[in-house]
Amino acid sequence: MEHLKNIIRDIPDFPKAGILFRDITPLLADAESLRETVNALVAPYRDAGITAIAAMEARGFIFGGLAADALGTGFVPLRKPGKLPYETISESYDLEYGAASLEIHADALDERDTVLLIDDLIATGGTAVASCRLVERLGARVAGLAFIIELDGLNGRSALADYHVHSLVHY
Ligand code: IMP
Repeated sequence: MEHLKNIIRDIPDFPKAGILFRDITPLLADAESLRETVNALVAPYRDAGITAIAAMEARGFIFGGLAADALGTGFVPLRKPGKLPYETISESYDLEYGAASLEIHADALDERDTVLLIDDLIATGGTAVASCRLVERLGARVAGLAFIIELDGLNGRSALADYHVHSLVHY
């Protein structure tokens, strides 16, 4: 899948000086690359008994929604504070550039669920760890996490040592 690097655009100094941002919008715009990416994201989990995809806004929603369709499951949004209208639970975490928190609806999952978490990119793993906690606090099991891009130097994988982590492209 390393050829996906040809369609991922590098943007220096975004969103601030010193950050090299990996921009997946050209991949989104290309029908063949998009389909190939979604199929590759879910491939290891086709027989894993996944009952729900959970994904973080905003880019995770795009791939998570398509992955839910590919696996024939429902979709559970993980959102920034104040966006979900019903009762929520929340987890705070540190980002590569700042701090943040994520929320999930309190009734979105339960102990019958086996969940695949999806995001576009894993850097430090902070977002992904918080997402795992949200899923597990509702009693569900995390079967694995799938990312298009893994930034190896930031060691997100070691923060997720207890989980199956699947990434398509490494930088
Ligand atoms: P982490 O929590 O440090 O693993 O950061 C991952 C989160 O930051 C994901 O939700 C990504 O969408 C976002 N992110 C960090 N760096 C980049 C980047 O270079 N391109 C796109 N998203 C990024």
